[in-house]
This record gives sequence, C-alpha cells and structure tokens, in this order.
Amino acid sequence: MTSSPTPASQTMLAAELERIVELERVIRAAQAEQLRRIEAARVLAADVDGVTDASTPVDREFATRSFVAELATTLVVHEATAGRLIADAHRLAGELSATLDALQAGSIGVGHVRSMLEVAVSLPAASLTGFEAAALERAERETPSAFRRRIRRLRERMHPEPLAARHRRAREERRVCLEPAEDGMAWLSLHLEAERGVAIMARLDALADARVAEPSIPTHPAPTHPATFSGEQSPNLSPSTSPTTSLGPRTRAQLVLDIAADLLLGREPASDADSAPLGVVRPHVYVTVPVLTLLGRTDESAELDGYGPIDAETARRLAAHAPSFQRILTHPETGAYLSYGRNTYRVPADLAGYLRVRDGGCRFPGCSRRAAGCDLDHTRDWAAGGATRHDNLAHLCRKHHRLKHHTEWRMSQMPSGDIRWTSPAGLVHVTTPDQPFDPVVPALADPADASAPADAPVTESDPEPPWAVQRPESSSGVPPAGVVAA
Ligand SMILES: [Zn+2]
Repeated sequence: MTSSPTPASQTMLAAELERIVELERVIRAAQAEQLRRIEAARVLAADVDGVTDASTPVDREFATRSFVAELATTLVVHEATAGRLIADAHRLAGELSATLDALQAGSIGVGHVRSMLEVAVSLPAASLTGFEAAALERAERETPSAFRRRIRRLRERMHPEPLAARHRRAREERRVCLEPAEDGMAWLSLHLEAERGVAIMARLDALADARVAEPSIPTHPAPTHPATFSGEQSPNLSPSTSPTTSLGPRTRAQLVLDIAADLLLGREPASDADSAPLGVVRPHVYVTVPVLTLLGRTDESAELDGYGPIDAETARRLAAHAPSFQRILTHPETGAYLSYGRNTYRVPADLAGYLRVRDGGCRFPGCSRRAAGCDLDHTRDWAAGGATRHDNLAHLCRKHHRLKHHTEWRMSQMPSGDIRWTSPAGLVHVTTPDQPFDPVVPALADPADASAPADAPVTESDPEPPWAVQRPESSSGVPPAGVVAA
C-alpha cells in the first residue's frame, strides 16, 4: 500500500515530466528537419551529378546510388539504412507531407511515421491524401501500435480496389517457407489467409491452455516473439510454478511451439490419459461482421479478432460454416453490437466476449497485451458497490491490474467507453476502445432463421440484455464502429 503523495513532490514530478515531453518534441522536430534536409540534399546531389530532365534512367540510377553512398559514409551507417532514409524522406516531403508536418510539430513520433509509410504503400495516389488526413486525425493520442491497427482498417476501407479482389489475388501466393537462422535454428513460416492463420494460433493457444490446466505440466512465463500475438502468459499461470515432471520447465511460448511441431509431424501432442482428448479442444475466434455484409447487401469489410480487416466474402463463409468462429453482428449505421452467433448462450460469456472485442487488449495507456492474456477488472470495485456491467468492466493485464490496486494510478470509465487514467503526478491519459461500439440492440434474428426480411426494422426499443446500456447521444465523442472499424 502507498501513502498519499506530498503536494510538493507531486508538483515537481509533474514539472519533470513536462520537461521530458518538451525534449521529445524537440527531438521529433529535429528528426523531421533532418528528413527535409536529406530530401533537399538528394535534389542537390542530382544537380551536382548533372542529372536533368533529359537524363536516361541509367544515369538517374547511378546518381541515386552515388547519393546513397554519400549519405551512408557521412552518417556512418549501412547503405541499406541510408537508402531507406532517402526513400522515406522523398515520400514524406512529397505525397505524405502532412505526416512530416505532424512529426515536425511533435504530435506524432517516428513510430507513427514508420507505420504510415508502410501502410500507405501501394495505396493509389487518388486515395492517399484522404487516407493520410483521416489517419492523422487521432494519431496524437495513439501509441504507434494502436495507430497502426487503426490505419490498417482505414486503408482497407479507402482502397479503391475491393478487399475481396486483392485477397483472391494474394491467396495465390500462399506457401510454406523455411528460413535458416543462427545457432542451429530456423524459421518455418506459413504464408496463408488471415482466417486460417488466426484459427491455427487460436487452436494452439487452446491446446496450450489445456496442457497448462493439467497440474503436472509446469511452465513459466517468458516474453514471446513480438511477431506472435499469442503465447502470452495465461492469467491462471503462477510464476512460482515449479518443475515437477521429466518435461522440465517450459515457457508458454515453447509449449505452443512444441505442440505445433508435434501436430505437423503427425504426433499426438502428449496428454495425460485422464484429461480431455486434445482433439476436442475448440478454439474461439471472434469475427465482427456488419449485418448488411452478412446478408450480402454490401461488401463492407469485417474484422477478425487478433488480425484486422478481412473481406466480406470470407467473413460470410466463416459466419456460416466455421464452428470455431464466433460471430458478432454490428448495426449498419451505428456500428452498434447486435447479437452473438449461436455459439454463446450465457450472458456472462456474451458480456466477456463483447468486452474482449471492445477492448482488444489491456486498457492501460500504451499497453499492447492482448485481451486473451488479461483480467477483466471492475473499474469500481465490486466490494465498493461496482456493478458487473460493460461500463464498469475493462481488460487489464496482470501488471497493470496490480498497478491499479497498489499504486496511486486511478481510472474511471466515460460513457463512450473511453477510460480516463490519472497518474500519480496528476496527469490525465485517456485510452479509447479498440472497437468503440456499444451493446445496444440485441434483437436481430439469427440469420440461420433469418427468413425475416433483411431490412426488417432494427429499433432501439427492442428488449435489452440486462447489461446493455445505451450511449447518451451528447457524450458520444468517439465515432461509431461503422466509421472506425469497417
Ligand atoms: Zn497492460
């Protein structure tokens, strides 16, 4: 437990933080300035090399290479690094100039800029300006990873070629690759459709959960490879679990890998005789589908939990035929949650599923721990009269859950689903939901029995589930998911 901070040290702490922020602003402005200078130098270097409008492509290519070598030797970096800096500077000074301005102003950092460069690539010029403006709108309050998640959705929505068409082309490229790595290791990668990739990871996670639940199998938590969204420490794991079998201690990430390898090699992953056969372990993956997409009226893209936007055709197939995918429907205009599919009956499971999609992960500012590895925390303690309902529950990872209960960090939920954090220094940080839609209208018929006309009215006077609370019109500072997530 902590005692209350003294006002004097709190003021000094806040002032110190302000100086740190000011320095960050200076650094970002300097980074923007350096990129501008690199582009200016590139133009000058071409001039020095005598490149004109009449120059041949070969002459231009050599001028570029010459400047790459010039910058690399000046900065003492690899030529590949210099080449990337030059290419980035050129795009930022030209087609993505608003991004460079935002870096200069300090409202975004280089992490955001990198995401912008990567996600905007191959977006046709006609869509680019609109995309950039919409992407930058909320960037100031987003960590680079949250920014990247949001602008990926945005890109899918603004791309002039339908996602389904791009997906059909891209899936021709599916394959298995083996890449050598150091120390006698290798990367075995499967380049495949997102829905199959997510389903495979979910199944491996479920199998690992089943193994962890067996008391004789020890694991201990460890950081996982950043490229995987799974293999995180499950909340029911205790770091103090000690090795008790001949298998020795394994991290969860190692366990997931071992199970994957066993399956690929045709071996049944080892399981105790008295535990459930692993074949019956069913993973659950949520797929959020706009209702008109499901009914085939529009091709607005859907959202695969743990991945991002997927095309309408795939979403319809998953919603109809794949038992391990749990369907969540959203309202055509408001993006509000409509109903779960046939797989979930109990209200608490519904609520947990809704919250998992709403939050996406830990709601502490900047934390990227996925919801699957988080606790559901009562914002206002249950013991203090806090209710078990969506506007009093949020995902917190174990670390930030403890932080909330043992330090001066305080949180409160806004009606919009935003969470307002107050730091020990008295600073306020607001985190927005991953999918800011509310559980408003539960009554749309299950499409399995939806012989009901597709445009049957979906009104807010339909009965609400016990935990449904409508967002007051006036406080809706966050655009509905129909805008954000589609
Ligand atoms: Zn966290």
